[in-house]
Amino acid sequence: MSENPAAGRCNACGGSDVQIFYRVQGVPAHSCLMLSSREEALAFPRGDIELGFCRGCGFIGNVRFDSRLNRYSAAYEETQAYSPRFLRFLDEVWGDQIERFGLGPGMTALEIGCGKGEFLVGLCERSGCGGIGVDPAYRPERTRSSAAGRMTFIRDLYGPKYAHLQADYLCCRHTLEHIEPVRDFVRLVRETIGDRRHVNVFFELPDMERVLEQGAFWDIYYEHCTYFTRGSLARLFRSAGFDLHRLYKAYDGQYLMLEAQPAFGPTDPLLPQENDLATVTSLVARFERQFHERLGSLSDTLARHRARGSRLAIWGSGSKCVSLISSLDLGPELVAIADINPNKHGKFLAGSGLEIVSPDALRALRPDVVLVMNSIYTEEIRHDLAARSLHPELIAL
Ligand SMILES: [Zn+2]
Repeated sequence: MSENPAAGRCNACGGSDVQIFYRVQGVPAHSCLMLSSREEALAFPRGDIELGFCRGCGFIGNVRFDSRLNRYSAAYEETQAYSPRFLRFLDEVWGDQIERFGLGPGMTALEIGCGKGEFLVGLCERSGCGGIGVDPAYRPERTRSSAAGRMTFIRDLYGPKYAHLQADYLCCRHTLEHIEPVRDFVRLVRETIGDRRHVNVFFELPDMERVLEQGAFWDIYYEHCTYFTRGSLARLFRSAGFDLHRLYKAYDGQYLMLEAQPAFGPTDPLLPQENDLATVTSLVARFERQFHERLGSLSDTLARHRARGSRLAIWGSGSKCVSLISSLDLGPELVAIADINPNKHGKFLAGSGLEIVSPDALRALRPDVVLVMNSIYTEEIRHDLAARSLHPELIAL
């Protein structure tokens, strides 16, 4: 870890005690943008990552992030909803949120960063409530729903011009980590709610504590310019005028879930899990070592396979995959990158220019080893491979 006078101010609390602890140069600025040619993918803009840790509030952000490299559009393919494991998780979240907040007919749910809209659609279908979704990557032709008549989608980035949108329930899933001015954003959410007391707020985002603990460097990439733990997220929400009701981890500890309501006056007492600053400070201090260990052991494993002439495939073409390929500098030993999302097939990965194929294409390529980019999908992937009479060795990250 080193002091860095260029680290600037913390985007969450405004403090200046920011330390740089992780650096990667020249990584693709986007990892979920689908590119239609290898040339376009190879020439894709790159940026640098320097993670700064705020010792005041625990927030972590890429101090080299340049939002001018952002290209969020309909070509952005973020959905995980082709995975049965992920759909089971969504089902749990829908059930939980509808029950906890009594969502039903006559109520409105607002989702900021709704992607292709599958969460909002499911929420409206199951509860009978109406919905407003905001996202530049929304694709109307992908929504086929009995609730469509109660739903409105705005294909734009959320901003002050949408502060008039009124809702009983406001959710924001896997979006905050793409936003650099986090304090302004959460304050804007608070302004949107205004003096309406009973609005429930739900945020879901990756948990950085796990990434730090496990040295999971493939979970750090340019698209994610901000990283939170339970404590730093809670501190940001409290400072913006929210009371926290529930703060927990889900999906094998990969995601951070926050439920809040607007506070009028001083906020409620802290939840015990908010007190993580000392723990996170020590995790940050040892992350560099953890990272080198993980990178070293993965490189060794792959070198062994390379020496044996093994045919390697990656299953899962999302951001983790783009990050891993850049870090490990994978080349010709990689015979395929497979993904179950049909919208990605025939498209190319930013940076490496590798083509994404359907799992069926693996039949002919017969990989000896398949790298599973998220261990939560290991059994699902083993099953999908076996269904194609493939039994490669699986290495799960
Ligand atoms: Zn801070």
